Amino acid sequence: MNGQFFISLLNPGIGLLFAAAFFLLWLNRRERYVAYAAAAYTASAIAFLIQDVGPVLPMELQRLPANIGFLATGIFFAAAIIRRYGLAVPWRAMGVTAALSTAIFIWFLLGHPSIAARILTISTGAGIIAIMIVIALWPVEKRHLIDRVLFWIAALSALNLIVRPVVLLSLTGGFDNYVGFQQSVYWTTVQFSQAMVSIAAAISLMVAVAIDRIAELRREADDDDLSGLLNRRGFEAQAAAALGRCRGEARPVALLIADLDHFKRINDSHGHAVGDAIIAAFGAHVRATGPAGMVAARIGGEEFALLVPGAGIEAARRLAEAVRTGLAPACAGRIPAGLCPTASLGIAVSDPGGAPGGPLSALMHEADQALYEAKRTGRNRVRTFPPKPVRLAANGG
Ligand code: GH3
Ligand code: MG
Ligand code: MG
Repeated sequence: MNGQFFISLLNPGIGLLFAAAFFLLWLNRRERYVAYAAAAYTASAIAFLIQDVGPVLPMELQRLPANIGFLATGIFFAAAIIRRYGLAVPWRAMGVTAALSTAIFIWFLLGHPSIAARILTISTGAGIIAIMIVIALWPVEKRHLIDRVLFWIAALSALNLIVRPVVLLSLTGGFDNYVGFQQSVYWTTVQFSQAMVSIAAAISLMVAVAIDRIAELRREADDDDLSGLLNRRGFEAQAAAALGRCRGEARPVALLIADLDHFKRINDSHGHAVGDAIIAAFGAHVRATGPAGMVAARIGGEEFALLVPGAGIEAARRLAEAVRTGLAPACAGRIPAGLCPTASLGIAVSDPGGAPGGPLSALMHEADQALYEAKRTGRNRVRTFPPKPVRLAANGG
C-alpha cells in the first residue's frame, strides 16, 4: 500500500460521495436529470474502482468493464446536462459512439494490443459525447451564469478528453506495460484532472439544481392555481416591472380590473365548487383573450387585474369588451348553463403623452374607481378613469 493507492481512491471516493448527494436530491424531487447525475457519478466510481483499486480480474480483462464505465459516465453526465434544459437526449448517437469506441478498444486489447491506441479510442469516444453536450446546448439561451458554466465545463471536458491524450502520448511515447501506465505522468494527470472536472461538474450541477428549485418555488409563490394566472404578489412584482419598462420606453400602458358580478349569490346558491369552476373558466378566458406581454392575475376572490404594456385607451377598451362579452361563450361547456356570471371592468391608462403617471398603486386606484363606477351604474359594463361611459351594455345598462 503506497501513496499511489490513496490517490487511486480519490476518484472512486468523489464519485460515491456525489452519487449519494445526487441520489438524496433526486429522492426529494424526482427530476430525471438529477437521477442521471447520480448514475454518472456511480458509473465513474465503479469504473475507477475497477481500474485502480480492485485488480480482481487479470489485468487485461478489467480494462473492458472499467472503460465501459468511463463511457457510461460520459453518457449519463451528458444526459443530465441536456435533460436539465428539457432537450431530447441523443441516446442513440451516444450509444453508437460508445459501442464503436468499445469495439475498437477490444480490437486494441485482444487483436492488436496497444495501450496508447486504447487510451486514444476511449478518450476520443468520451470526447465526442462531450461534444454532443456542446452541440445540444449551443442554441440554448444562457440566461444565468450557471448555464454558461455548464456549457463551458462540457466544452473544456471535450477539449481535455481529445487533446490531452494526443499531447501526453506524443510527449511520453506510450507505455510498455500496465505498471508503467499506472505510474505514468499520463495516468496521474488523468486522475488529477478527472478529479477536478468531477468536482467542478458536480458542484455546478448542484448549483443548477438549487437555482431550478428556487425558480420553481418563486413561480409557485407567485401563481394562483385556481385561475392559472398570477396571484396578487406575483402581479405586483411583474406589473411594477412592466410599468417601469413602459415608462422608460415612453410607451402607454393600460390596467384593467375585472370583477365578477353578484358572485356571492352564485356561490351561495350553487356551492363553492361552481364558484371555483367559474374562476377557473374566467382565468382561461383571460389567458386566451389577452395579448402577449400582458400581466394577468387574480388579485382577490373574484377580482382580476390585467396590465397591458403598449395599450392605449382604445386598445384597452377593445380588450375589456372582449373579456366582458366573451365570458359567456367561454363558460359554455364548463359551467352549467345559466350560471355564468357577467363581469364589470374598470380601466386606467398611463399615457406617456399625458400627465406623468404615479406608481402601480396609483394606477390600480384609478382602475378601481372606474370599476366602482361600472358596478354603480348597473354592472356588466366597462368604465374608464376618469369615469366616462364606453358603450351601453347589451342588457339595458
Ligand atoms: P358584486 O357584483 O358587487 O361584485 O357582488 P359580489 O357578490 O360579486 O361581491 P362580493 O365581494 O360581495 O362577493 C364576493 C364573493 O366571492 C364572496 C365569496 O363568497 C366569493 N369568493 C371569494 N373568493 C372565492 C374563491 O376562491 N372561490 C369561490 N368559489 N368563491 C370565492
Ligand atoms: Mg363581485
Ligand atoms: Mg369582488
